[in-house]
Amino acid sequence: MASRNDDDVCEEENIEGYNVDGQEDHFQYEGTEHVHSEVYWNSEYIFNEDAEGHLDEEEEHIGDRADPENGKHIVVRLSPTTADMVISSDEDEGDISKELVDKCISDDEKSEEEFRKYPEFDENATFGEVQLQLNMLFLNLTMFKKAVADYNIAVGRVFKFVKNDNERVRAKCRSDGCKWEIFCSWSNEVKTFKVKKFVEPHTCARGFKNKQANKKWLATQLADELRSYPTISAHDAFEWFKRYRGIHIDEHMLYGAMRLARTIVEGSEKLQYQKLWDYCEELMRHNPNSTFGLQVNRPTLELPPTFDILYICFNTNVQGFKAGCKPLIGLDGCFLKGYYEGQLLSTVAQDGNQHFYVIVIAVVEQESRDTWSWFLTNLLADIGQYSDNGWNFISDQQKGLKLALEELCPGTPHRNCVLHI
Ligand SMILES: [Zn+2]
Repeated sequence: MASRNDDDVCEEENIEGYNVDGQEDHFQYEGTEHVHSEVYWNSEYIFNEDAEGHLDEEEEHIGDRADPENGKHIVVRLSPTTADMVISSDEDEGDISKELVDKCISDDEKSEEEFRKYPEFDENATFGEVQLQLNMLFLNLTMFKKAVADYNIAVGRVFKFVKNDNERVRAKCRSDGCKWEIFCSWSNEVKTFKVKKFVEPHTCARGFKNKQANKKWLATQLADELRSYPTISAHDAFEWFKRYRGIHIDEHMLYGAMRLARTIVEGSEKLQYQKLWDYCEELMRHNPNSTFGLQVNRPTLELPPTFDILYICFNTNVQGFKAGCKPLIGLDGCFLKGYYEGQLLSTVAQDGNQHFYVIVIAVVEQESRDTWSWFLTNLLADIGQYSDNGWNFISDQQKGLKLALEELCPGTPHRNCVLHI
């Protein structure tokens, strides 16, 4: 019988899959000469395949592999309902008796329908709803380990991995006297990873400080919250963890987690900005006669370009506006709440059902006379000049908009929305 060595356990870093270190934090353009230029929707601007960043998430390859269950791995189910219901055998636990082997359910006797009865782990389960059970199937062990961590943090218990390799993972409760345990390994039967032993529930007491809730885990939990509330304070984050995750975090850990969460959010948004060129090209390919514009700042060729303006106008929206809407155009701007902020400029009309009808949108760093002039120039180029079409405008008192309108559409009717007067 092989002995277990709990000293090998390293539970601090055992939650995998949150590798933010691997993210590209820079990108380079090659072969472009467009400095400070308005770069528009032209196929010659297709470049920068390097900008297609990918997260280096750790993924486990599940391919053909040797059967770890040959002979030594036999699972005997005696009762599906009691707590200590499973006797499992692997090389850790030595031989099992002949009588138990005789009770084994042979793989050959199982039909495919029986295989389908095995529950599959729901990787979309939200925190607190993570379920673990015997025979549950997992696509890989990373997913299993994360599920075990989420489950135990949610119920306020501390566990340790007593075995953790590419083919099997065993986790046990850290408390003396508590027999909670779960074991998952590759199953040739179903060609994926399966929970082969599950002893529950915890008989130990719940705690509100949990070592498994390490910095990486906390940061991953906090990242979504941070996207919605970029200015969240440490106090609010502490209260959020206490209320929605049931754990108390010490100050040092909290600040570390917030820094890491910001890196995760910033990194993912940076990657999305890098894909804007490809996004515009793809829009152009599927929407002929439309206008998609991306303007970047690039003081010198040595520096990477930074985002300045994005303009999106679908030809179908313009045609629909001209065919079915009153010639009254609403202009508005609002703040974007994302990590890099900026402002969204939009034009809306009213369709025959009295609903808002979006014509054109743009993302700019901030509203000003210059950005509104730029926006209106493009808008009029797409929908036609005001003098030919009799456009009327309505807006709130947007910064710089009045001056831009007087400059580009002198004499055209422009009213302020009563809500903003
Ligand atoms: Zn326990």
